[in-house]
Amino acid sequence: MRATVLHAPGDVRFVDVAEPAILKPTDAIIKLSATCICGSDLWPYRGLQPVDAPMHMGHEYCGVVVEVGSAVNTVKPGQFVVGSFCISDNTCPHCRHGFPSSCEQREFMSGAQAPYARVPLADGTLVATENVPDDDLIPSLLATSDVLGTGWYAADAARVQPGMTVAVVGDGAVGLMGVLAAKQMGAERIIAMSRHKPRQELALEYGATDIVTERGPEGAAAVKALTANVGADAVLECVGTNESMHQAIQLARPGAMVGYVGVPHGVELDGQMLFFSQTGMQGGPAPVRRFLPDLMDLVLTKKINPGKVFDLALPLADVAEGYRAMDERRAIKTLLRV
Ligand SMILES: [Zn+2]
Repeated sequence: MRATVLHAPGDVRFVDVAEPAILKPTDAIIKLSATCICGSDLWPYRGLQPVDAPMHMGHEYCGVVVEVGSAVNTVKPGQFVVGSFCISDNTCPHCRHGFPSSCEQREFMSGAQAPYARVPLADGTLVATENVPDDDLIPSLLATSDVLGTGWYAADAARVQPGMTVAVVGDGAVGLMGVLAAKQMGAERIIAMSRHKPRQELALEYGATDIVTERGPEGAAAVKALTANVGADAVLECVGTNESMHQAIQLARPGAMVGYVGVPHGVELDGQMLFFSQTGMQGGPAPVRRFLPDLMDLVLTKKINPGKVFDLALPLADVAEGYRAMDERRAIKTLLRV
């Protein structure tokens, strides 16, 4: 089969690779219904993360099971499944405490920008639907695999409660999903930090009530002005740069939580600044598996439409153009048709 391999920064190729096979009795092989490109795929693409060897790209996936190993009990061939980008057993202490993204057997999914993929620990990782869903639901179900699950975690980690004022730093796909999540959790006011018109419009559609275009001290001042000089009750940090992390803490009122889900690159926080900010912080790779059954149900009952975050859809063979479009900010997020 042909699949996506990153050879060096900026060099994504759709090339012949070996078809995935069952390697362990706990594996499943799925035929992808659709796949997509993640903002985090851009870190190695842009050379901000080393590419020591050719990388098989893609960790967001949904599709139909074609084969399972002898120890797999909860999914079977023919079922439609979604899994998290974090592989987990769903039985260890961390999984049982709700943090499958720190599973004792954690692996990170790879090789999903392809027609077929191998999913390790299938019983713990995959969630099956009752029936094979209609095609129009595929983009939204795919979104639950990572981008929605990650935005949801940002709001969960920031302890969003009904009636709160929530600020969202970052207007990429995850930030937009954070807006959707905050709305679903009952936030009364959602302030989206965004300078890009199409993203502002999508943020408003997903439930943002205010848009702040300023950044840095001006951004913090604008949010203070909108909150009677208090700051936000909860802040979602969805970028991962030093600037965005500082911005998030500046927007939070004393006692607020910052949920941070952008993978930190070059973030340095000063102890005294954190001490006097009196904010709490929780972040890390999203425990998507914890949220998956509920998020898939919200999609299947058409209560949410996270799939709208895909503003570009390409055939998988054109994956290189998908990376370019996201790198050049021509697309928020690229869906790849398999
Ligand atoms: Zn576990």
